Amino acid sequence: MWHTLEPHDVAARLQADLNDGLTDQEAARRLARYGPNELQTYGAKSRWQILREQLTGTMVAMLIAAAAVSAALGDYKDTVAILAIVALNTILGFTQEYRAEQAMVALKRLAVPTVKVRRGGRVSDIPARHLVTGDIVLLEAGNLVPADLRVLDAVHLRIQEASLTGESEPVEKTAQALEHPDLPLGDRANMAYMGTTVTYGRGVGVVAETGMRTELGRIAAMLQTVGAEPTPLQRRMDQLGRQLGAAALLIVAAIFLAGLLRGQDLKLMFLTAVSLAVAAVPEGLPAVVTIALSLGAQRMLKRRALIRKLPAVETLGSVTAICSDKTGTLTENQMTVTVLDVAGHQVRVTEDQDVVWALRDRPALALLLAGGALCNDALLEADPDGGSGFRVVGDPTEGALVAAAAWFGLQKFDLDTVLVRAGEVPFDSSRKRMTTIHRAPPRESSIPIALRPVERGFPRSQWPPYIAFTKGAVGSLLEVCGHLWVDTNSQPLTAAWRDRIVRASDQLAADGMRVLGVAFRPLPSRPASSQAEDLERDLVFVGMTGITDPPRPEVKRAILSAARAGIRPIMITGDHPLTAQHVAREIGIASDGRVLTGRDLDRLSVQDLEGLADEVSIYARVSPEHKLKIIEALQHRGHIVAMTGDGVNDAPALRKADVGVAMGVTGTDVAREAADIVLLDDNFATIVAAVEEGRTIYDNIRKFVRYLVTSNSGEIIVMAAAPFLGMPLPLLPLQILWINLVTDGPPALALSVEPAEPDVMRRPPYPPVETVLSRGMGWYVVAVGSFMGLLSLGLGYAYWRVANPHWQTMVFTSLTFAQMAHILAIRSERVSLFKLGLRSNTLLLAAVALTIVLQLAVVYLPFLQQVFQTSALPAKDLVLCVLLSSTVAVAIETAKWLGHRGGGARP
Ligand code: ADP
Ligand code: MG
Repeated sequence: MWHTLEPHDVAARLQADLNDGLTDQEAARRLARYGPNELQTYGAKSRWQILREQLTGTMVAMLIAAAAVSAALGDYKDTVAILAIVALNTILGFTQEYRAEQAMVALKRLAVPTVKVRRGGRVSDIPARHLVTGDIVLLEAGNLVPADLRVLDAVHLRIQEASLTGESEPVEKTAQALEHPDLPLGDRANMAYMGTTVTYGRGVGVVAETGMRTELGRIAAMLQTVGAEPTPLQRRMDQLGRQLGAAALLIVAAIFLAGLLRGQDLKLMFLTAVSLAVAAVPEGLPAVVTIALSLGAQRMLKRRALIRKLPAVETLGSVTAICSDKTGTLTENQMTVTVLDVAGHQVRVTEDQDVVWALRDRPALALLLAGGALCNDALLEADPDGGSGFRVVGDPTEGALVAAAAWFGLQKFDLDTVLVRAGEVPFDSSRKRMTTIHRAPPRESSIPIALRPVERGFPRSQWPPYIAFTKGAVGSLLEVCGHLWVDTNSQPLTAAWRDRIVRASDQLAADGMRVLGVAFRPLPSRPASSQAEDLERDLVFVGMTGITDPPRPEVKRAILSAARAGIRPIMITGDHPLTAQHVAREIGIASDGRVLTGRDLDRLSVQDLEGLADEVSIYARVSPEHKLKIIEALQHRGHIVAMTGDGVNDAPALRKADVGVAMGVTGTDVAREAADIVLLDDNFATIVAAVEEGRTIYDNIRKFVRYLVTSNSGEIIVMAAAPFLGMPLPLLPLQILWINLVTDGPPALALSVEPAEPDVMRRPPYPPVETVLSRGMGWYVVAVGSFMGLLSLGLGYAYWRVANPHWQTMVFTSLTFAQMAHILAIRSERVSLFKLGLRSNTLLLAAVALTIVLQLAVVYLPFLQQVFQTSALPAKDLVLCVLLSSTVAVAIETAKWLGHRGGGARP
């Protein structure tokens, strides 16, 4: 049992190198040998499963029964034709379903997190599925534990293991070997298990088990993947399909009976009824919705939004408020220190600064810079592209501080070697500060020349054995400071000083800067406790840094676009209210600049907040817990809320929001796990783009529901109305099946790639309560269905009355053509086809052309004429078919035009 072994035994067993990690070759060898670190997925359907489902559908079963009946009656031609249609239908259904499935698998694969491992002495990010036993993994707050690890080093490492043990209170981890081999999982304090989450601190572990051999893998069979759950729209479609199907079957039954009563041939009537049922029941609806959603998810991915949960694609379309983090989402997260401020003196950091003199004049500056770089987890790394520049590894705010110190000649590496870190209290966004403890070198040892300025700022004779540096928001620091460092000495922090510090900090914030203060505390000995309460008190305030972070250039446009689309952009930040206001003004959020702070939110009840939520668009100094309150208030006001988040504490808010949005670059695994979508570029504009796609998809789903259901109703009306005119069956079974196949197949699918309508982002969101069938769809289906049906039937009737032998082919052809005219006109609910341009959906154009060619083949090729019992139409009859069918489009276009003119165009 891993937890009873000492680290060196673990290493021996796993043939691991605990310092440098595996070599790349060894890791590759193990990966090839033991397979990837992943749980078997139960979500994806195999090809056979899809095929089986296709072949066992009720409709197919009915068709096969019909084929069997034909065969039994000796009508082999019909049998073969029906089977051919079954085959075509199955191929179509299969490819649709298979594509949707593949798209989902691809999306899931992209959502897999990466892991920090040490291999060959270097730390790098690899996909979690490439982990092998013996890999050295670095863990930090927010990570999902990627495999079963034996913990080798833990700094306040706390792990929440609810997914394994059900215990929601995080467990503190240690590296010590434990005694009892049969401890329950929850008590194995030196193990970190796959699927659990790091909520605090950091640590290092060696991979002991991967994939299905992990504890999670053992119970994985019980964990069905969530992806299979139908989305609300899919469920609604299912329901709609069933209702329409039931209605269609009733009508079909009536047609069947009527035919029998009128003395039609039983076999013919049976086949007609079956074909009509197959054509009229919209069994394909749910599948087409799935395809539209997953195609939509793919399109969103191209725009850098990764969908983790399919329903989000729908919900995105009806979002009415986007609550966004400021840092990194609205701004670039390109942090640069531009102002340094120590006890009454401010220095602007500029390129041409004579840094030597700056430090000589203001010795406390060196202490400020050193403290900022020491109390810091970021690193500067030489630019991997071989350039002369440097790249920040870690948090950009911290990186800015390391870079600023380096600019003044104080390298973090030197600082870390002289003042070795001996403990820490990590940053969290509720305290808004962090602390590190450092051991001072013996007084007689020499320190690098580069660090002389630090000595000047903080005379060596005064160095205590240990020293704690704390950095954080100035307000939060002042709460725990009792002294102030002036030049080379500490003085009591008087009210006057406090006042000056707060004013200076406000001034920087009002210029849009993030302000971070630095303080320290001399410690006579290594502190026994490493709790924040014990360490962060009686500090000596050193100074502060003003850090700029420019707004992202594309955000301004996105904000404008959101506002035009009736969506409220709301900024939520942990930064100072003045910083928030400045940035908000720059990017165009909230002209009145009203701000609520975390403290206000604590005071207000959700009800109070509801009243304000419609007006206030800036929330500053908030902690993650406040996000929940903001979401609730907005939701009570009827908003559909998208909320961004990146930290561990953001997970509840991400779940609570209608659309939880996690950061792909700076976000933690935990946030991503809780989110519905992940922004691959952390960019606010990407959310707006995703909303646009969401609206487009919703529109397109409406379009093809409208198209399919209207087409079906047209077909039913042709068949149902004929007896009233005293006509024989207007369409033969095979003709019905044919129309169904060619018109419901490719053209309907092509509708789902219809590009966004020009006004998608210039109209208010759809009310969340409305269904796909709202806004007059029912009426439309009946009206246009009747129009198409009666048009074809009327044409056929006129020919039939004068005993023209082409009458049935006329019905058959004009109905197909009418549907093609319909699909062209239906491409937009409001905008004219002429404005959209025929070529804006070439796929649809191709599908329509294909359908027309196929129809002509059925009418003019002698072999197909025999199968479908058609006759070659003379040119003038064909022209008549085309002209009359086009009136469908003309009528719809006229209605759109009237709608516009009357100002009655509904949103
Ligand atoms: P945001 O929501 O804008 O990302 P954060 O919650 O990350 O804000 O940070 C809130 C405040 O905490 C910042 O204004 C800053 O004062 C302080 N802060 C941020 N990062 C650090 C850090 N690494 N160390 C110390 N203080 C920090
Ligand atoms: Mg942040």
